[in-house]
Amino acid sequence: MNSPCPHVADGPVLVSACLAGVPCRFDATARPEPGLLAHVIAGHLIPVCPEMLGGLPCPRSPAEIERGDGHAVLDGTARVVDAEGRDVTEPFVDGAHCCLAIARRYRVHAAVLKEGSPSCGYHRLHQGGRIILGCGVTTALLRRNNIQVVPEIVGLAGVKAA
Ligand code: SF4
Repeated sequence: MNSPCPHVADGPVLVSACLAGVPCRFDATARPEPGLLAHVIAGHLIPVCPEMLGGLPCPRSPAEIERGDGHAVLDGTARVVDAEGRDVTEPFVDGAHCCLAIARRYRVHAAVLKEGSPSCGYHRLHQGGRIILGCGVTTALLRRNNIQVVPEIVGLAGVKAA
């Protein structure tokens, strides 16, 4: 198999589980990226769903970050709230730390994550019916720990050498 990414030799890469075909989104659907599936099967990619790793069920109520992005959540200045008004900040932060622990365990240097998600978003979030600039909670934590994050539209081709 020809890899679009010469840097998978630097170690495995995390991928949002929904992009790998796992039906783990809030509505129990997946968003499989055909270009990534062969790399999951080959063991180049490790699927993770931070919201489920944080203990949230599937299906679950959709959630948004209030007044800020993933960095603000990590700093304690913003919350994550679901459509029923429940504060789900803790499972979002816990799930991000689970992803970081997996990344460290497997010496991961990069992650391909799902744009627009309050956990996995790269530079776009849904907030109060609008699209705002900002990253998700897991993206923020991985970046703070020097792990590259690439959105799915770029995919493995955007992963740089470790
Ligand atoms: Fe996909 Fe990330 Fe949302 Fe899980 S938290 S469903 S991996 S975008």
